[in-house]
Amino acid sequence: MHIGIAGAGLLGRLLAWQLSRSGHTVDVFDPAQGPGPSAESGSLAAGWTAAGMLSPVAELECADARVFAWGLRSCELWPGIVQCLGEPVALQLQGSLLLAHRSDAGAADRVLSLLQSKAEAAYRPQALDAVRVAELEPSVHGPSLAWLLPGEGQIHCVQAMQALAAQATRQGTQWHWGRMVESLQAGALDVRGNGTHVCERLHFDHVFDVRGTGARPQLPVRGVRGEVFWLQAPGVRLNRALRLLHPRHAVYIVPRPDDIIVVGASEIESEDRSPVSVRSTLELLSAAHSVIPALAEARVVHSESNLRPALPDNLPLLSQERGITRINGLYRHGWLIAPAVVEQALAEVLS
Ligand SMILES: Cc1cc2nc3c(=O)[nH]c(=O)nc-3n(C[C@H](O)[C@H](O)[C@H](O)COP(=O)(O)OP(=O)(O)OC[C@H]3O[C@@H](n4cnc5c(N)ncnc54)[C@H](O)[C@@H]3O)c2cc1C
Repeated sequence: MHIGIAGAGLLGRLLAWQLSRSGHTVDVFDPAQGPGPSAESGSLAAGWTAAGMLSPVAELECADARVFAWGLRSCELWPGIVQCLGEPVALQLQGSLLLAHRSDAGAADRVLSLLQSKAEAAYRPQALDAVRVAELEPSVHGPSLAWLLPGEGQIHCVQAMQALAAQATRQGTQWHWGRMVESLQAGALDVRGNGTHVCERLHFDHVFDVRGTGARPQLPVRGVRGEVFWLQAPGVRLNRALRLLHPRHAVYIVPRPDDIIVVGASEIESEDRSPVSVRSTLELLSAAHSVIPALAEARVVHSESNLRPALPDNLPLLSQERGITRINGLYRHGWLIAPAVVEQALAEVLS
């Protein structure tokens, strides 16, 4: 089949990789200037900024059973995908830790009982005592309540975005950078170059709309601002992602290679893409420091803000019609669920 994809973010890259791997002819259109993380076009894919937490259980706090099932399936799929990419992508699935300070025990109780009631027995949070926490994560000092979430993990999003595009290119995918898709119909994309008014209709056997926040007005999608920090912390050993139960934020602390620790993320109902605010800096970094005191000497080497594509119910949309598939609203679960969503979408398109 000849496939047209509108959007080269997380979903666009996964689709291009999977479809070109299966021998289809794939053309991808995106206003970005190239395959790297550049915000020049004003629409940097959310996929670049994400911390890459793969948390089917912890996300049940704000997700439904479908996101949970897609999340579990994606945790099975990611190792095989990463293995096929031909360049290193850091991926870890040895569980994550959920932590809370004694003063936040009320908020922790509420979240814990929600997770216990929504997760299947095998995935329920397992309470840990201080000795076990010290064995698993010797750098953690401070929170007195801790649980292990088995099977959770994290992926290095920047490496994965780059490796997916590179492998799809080797498989024959054509990328059309600086090209914006204005609208889609079954089997057709209306495409124009950045800064021009001339719109061209291109025909395909099937098209995918995976433009994230760029899918308006066809979809009622909005952007939810999130801010993250990259800290360089030599000597701070962290084996798995941590999530601090906090009354105001979903604070997570995610290890990456080369002594980098990603701290995120704020969640603000705004489409403001301006740099990280002082308030978020104080709140997120204080929270991280309260979990790993040794982060006091870490260096802030990068900070970034971006928009999560979300639909009014904050749940994902997968809509399939003859000649056109739309996927959107992956919100804060994109890395968690994208492989399974793509698997389901392609099973129908290619059947
Ligand atoms: C701060 C932050 C932290 C996050 N943390 C996590 C996490 O820990 N775990 C997790 O699972 N998820 C996380 N996410 C969410 C995840 O990144 C998103 O759900 C995911 O990237 C959505 O994928 P997507 O392909 O739909 O959209 P995107 O990755 O945003 O890609 C959309 C693409 O469409 C392109 N586009 C826009 N308009 C057009 C147009 N008109 N024509 C053609 N192309 C267009 C854009 O340039 C972009 O490349 C986080 C997100 C943010 C912002």
